[in-house]
Amino acid sequence: MAAAEAAGADAIHVDVMDGHFVPNITVGPLVVEALRRSCSLPLQVHLMITEPDRYAPEFIAAGASSILFHAEATATPYRLLSEIRRSGALAGVVLNPMTPAIQLDELVPHVDLVLLMTVEPGFGGQQFIPTMYAKIARVRAFLDERGRQELDLEVDGGVNLSTAPALVRAGANVLVAGAAIFQASSIAKAIAELRAAAELGLKQPTGRGA
Ligand code: ZN
Repeated sequence: MAAAEAAGADAIHVDVMDGHFVPNITVGPLVVEALRRSCSLPLQVHLMITEPDRYAPEFIAAGASSILFHAEATATPYRLLSEIRRSGALAGVVLNPMTPAIQLDELVPHVDLVLLMTVEPGFGGQQFIPTMYAKIARVRAFLDERGRQELDLEVDGGVNLSTAPALVRAGANVLVAGAAIFQASSIAKAIAELRAAAELGLKQPTGRGA
């Protein structure tokens, strides 16, 4: 993480998995608290857990700058979004790859960012699902239509040098990369190359939705 910070990463994204919402188990609030003490970048906490309402406050107390929860995991997202924002953290909603984009309809006025999973959640190093490019473009167009052009549209899963240009071209402006950074021989080089690939996507004159 220190190497990523030194190399100019914009934020640290922490995937919290509970063994219920996804098959894998990762870390809890104690580790987030330790991460908070170890770096000064914003800490995005992505809750891949069945009870985000119950645990979000603990992660905020541990130092999360933003809390991202799955629309599939709560029946009361408005209450959860309000509580997160009242605590001073940013609130983001996440959709699994096969959850229709229309799920965002009522949520968009109340969120600070939207995260689209571009692989099924649960494990690192998975292959990007190609139909997700069109979904990203649809969601970006929808945010524009709803007057929320300023919202970050973030993607998580299968982000690497070959997918990054098209992800940005489709309308994503925040890329979460795990394996592409942390399994590279040089974290600094991997971040620089990924950033260059994303910028290449911005320059290619194909417009959104390509
Ligand atoms: Zn994540």
